[in-house]
This record gives sequence, structure tokens and C-alpha cells, in this order.
Amino acid sequence: MLGIDSGRFTGHQEVIHLAAIADGGNGTAAIRGIALTLGEANVTLAVRFRKRMRAVDLIRKKRDCGELSRQEIEFLVSGYTRGEIPDYQMAAWLMAVWIRGMNRSELAALTEVMLHSGEVLDHSAIPGKKVDKHSTGGVGDKTSLILAPIVAAGGLTVPMISGRGLGHTGGTLDKLEAIPGFNVNLSLAEFRRVLGECGMGLIGQTAEIAPADKRIYALRDVTSTVENIGLICASIMSKKLAEGIDALVLDVKTGSGAFMKKEEDSVRLAEVMVETGQRMGKKVAALITDMNQPLGRMAGHSNEVIESVEVLKGGGPADLRELSVDLSAWMFYLGERTPSVEEGRRLAQTMIATGQALEKLRQGIRLQGGDEGVIDEPQRLPQARFRADVSSKSGGYITGTNCEQFGIALAMLGGGREKKEDKIDHGVGLEFHKRIGDRVEKAEPLATIHYNNDARLAEAKELIAGNYFIGDSRPKEKPPLVHRILGA
Ligand code: URA
Repeated sequence: MLGIDSGRFTGHQEVIHLAAIADGGNGTAAIRGIALTLGEANVTLAVRFRKRMRAVDLIRKKRDCGELSRQEIEFLVSGYTRGEIPDYQMAAWLMAVWIRGMNRSELAALTEVMLHSGEVLDHSAIPGKKVDKHSTGGVGDKTSLILAPIVAAGGLTVPMISGRGLGHTGGTLDKLEAIPGFNVNLSLAEFRRVLGECGMGLIGQTAEIAPADKRIYALRDVTSTVENIGLICASIMSKKLAEGIDALVLDVKTGSGAFMKKEEDSVRLAEVMVETGQRMGKKVAALITDMNQPLGRMAGHSNEVIESVEVLKGGGPADLRELSVDLSAWMFYLGERTPSVEEGRRLAQTMIATGQALEKLRQGIRLQGGDEGVIDEPQRLPQARFRADVSSKSGGYITGTNCEQFGIALAMLGGGREKKEDKIDHGVGLEFHKRIGDRVEKAEPLATIHYNNDARLAEAKELIAGNYFIGDSRPKEKPPLVHRILGA
């Protein structure tokens, strides 16, 4: 229904003022060919009107495969963030997006609107380039704890805003909180001070940073709308771009322990994230890396801090060391600290070999209120009281794992969250003894569980044992650590 609510006509050379209101229909429309006869003049008007937007119309539009304009996306996201659009309408729209998808311009609009829902940090008072890394998450993925001090020691600034673990994946914030006293809830002023002083800071998403994502992610989590490439891209990139960085390295996991199990999905996610970041003037590269088995030998919070420190001391498992150095090298390169990735790799290795990265971690822990003594005395971290081996039911070669189930077993024992409000037991962990391609004998330990409560121990053991796949012959190829590199 269209109504013209006012009209003013004077004389022959009509001065016409019309305001139109519309109810129904979609968005902005042009109405042509309203012909009026005023005195002796025939006047044809082209009237543009903007209808009052309603969430219900935008849900219907997406449900029916329509493309939403930037204004429409802004209306939904801002309205929801301000509490004017209720959860049930946002949830319906998210599900419509999940099913129908978004095109490139809708995705760009969503990311930008979410980014500008809060503060975009400005670190221009700190000299030099600011770089960060984001991982899509997996089991035993602890590279942030290693590369932040490597890259800060190498001269760049790393303003890292991280997340918590959920489901089978671990989160950097939870790992840091295993360190007694470590404060991940710094105010933005404190964050800037820490960054200025030591070149690295690791905090959680504050109320000021991409608040739209904070609300929308919580809703997606309980409405089964997380696993959508467009929504994941907008969520991750809005937070990362709000950090005030010049460059970003994305570690997009692929395989049984990743959000994206199929390589083609990981590549598609990487492509849209790289494109989104580059369009906003940032240097971005994505490494598609393997998550068909845990990264390193340790999972669980204290365990992962200990293993990260081992890498910074020059030891640790080869895959974790190699990936941490690779990601640091890309950060050095994109942050224009080194002229090539290869030189970035050499700089990262030097930062480890000279102990400068370890000292940087010590300083970072101290500045964020943590007990730096954990570096030399890992027993100061929360410890599980008991150990139980998971034995192999047969002999042969490890041909693969369903790595996601290891993360679920860890959460089941209290070392992760099954629900958002669950408290984490930082001492609980898993130690993996076998990797793809290794020989295993019947009854030999595949993994060791570090636990405090045996209520679900038997279930966790079954889950771990049943998700190591054992065959008679050694697999011809082991999964590569880095599958592909995009962007840059
Ligand atoms: N991590 C995020 O921050 N957002 C997502 O949507 C998925 C993973």
C-alpha cells in the first residue's frame, strides 16, 4: 500500500512537494508514471520512497533467496545489537542465511557493519607494524602462545584478541588462564600500555570490540548456525580488523579435527577471509594446515602451556615447532620486517635459539599479572592428580584419526566446555604417543589421560581408542603440515 501524505501545488509552474510513505514491499523503490493534471499542466512525477524497514520482511527476503542491501543488513545487525530486534527474528534470519548463503557484497556489508558496531583500535602511537594470526581452531593448537613472543621479540607488535574454546576446540584465553594470575580482561588502556611496553598483548573480546559479533555468535552457537562460511568469515574478520592491525596471517585448519573437514571448504573459507581483509586494505595470507591429528603431543590447558614453553626453549615436537616458525615467518613477511618468508623463518629461529622469544613470553606474562615462574617450574601450573593410559586394541600402523573425538573426550573429562557456562579444569589433559604412520603394538599406549575425576574416564578412553584407525600397512603418505597457501 502506498500513500501520498502531502502535496503542495502552486500556480502554473508547479512547485511540488510530495512525501510518500509505504507499507509493504521491499526497501527503496522508485515509482514512475504518477500523472497528475494540475490546471493546464500535465506533470509526470518520479517518486522515490523509502519504506520503514521491518525484520520480518528481511527474513522473508533471504528465505526467498533475495539479496539484502547494505542498509538492510545494517538495519538488522544494528537493531539486534541495540536490543531492538529480538533473538527469535535474528535467529530466523541467521538460519535463512545458513541455508541460502550470502553473495560477496552481502558478506562485505555484514563484515563492515559488524566491525563498526564497536571501536576500531588505533595503535598509531606505537611505532612499527601491528600483525596478528588467527586460527580456526583444532586439537592441541597452541601456536598463539609460541608465535606472539617470537614475533614481538623480532620487532613487530602483536595485539592479539583471542577467544575461548567451545566444543572440541581449545581457546587461547583458556590456555593463558591456566597460568596463575594471568589477566585476559585488561581494559583497552591497559592493553595499549602492555603492547607499548613489550610488543605483545593477549586479551579477550571486550564490550567495545565488535559487540555485534559477541551477541550474534552467542545466538549462532545455540541455533546451529555456526558452520557457515559467510557467517564465520564475518565473525572472525570483524574482530580481527577491529584490532587495528596492518597484516593478518590466517591458519585455516582442515581435516577431522577442524571446523571444516573438507579441504575444499577450508580453501573457500580462506579465500573469502583473505579477500575481505585485502578489500579493507590489510595484508592477508592464509595457510591451510593439517588437523587430521592433534598438533604436537599435548592437549589440555596446562599441558599446552608446558609444550609451548618447550618449543620456545628450542625443543618440543617437530610439527608444532615447524608450524609455529612458519606462521611467525609469514607474520614477519607481511609485517614488512623481513623481505621474504624464508628470511622470516630464519628470524623466527634466531628468536628461539637466542632465548629472546622465551624472555618475551616471561615479560608478557609478568605484565599481564601472571606467574612467570611457570616457565622454569611447570609444576606451578594446575596439575591433574591421576594418569591413565589408553591402550591399543590391536597391532599395526596408525592410518588416521578422528581427531575431533579426542577434543570431545578432553571436554568430557573437564578439560573443555560442553556448554558455554562450564568451568574448565586446567589440569586435565591428553598426551598423544602415536602419530599417523607410526607402528603400534597391541596393548601399547596410544595416549595418556591426565584426569582429576573418573566419572567419565571409561567413556573417554573408549572414545580415544576407537578414534585411532589402525591398519596392517604403513600409509603411503603422511598428511602434509601445510596443505596450501593463499593470498599475500
Ligand atoms: N570463530 C569465530 O570467532 N567465529 C566463528 O564464527 C567461528 C569461529
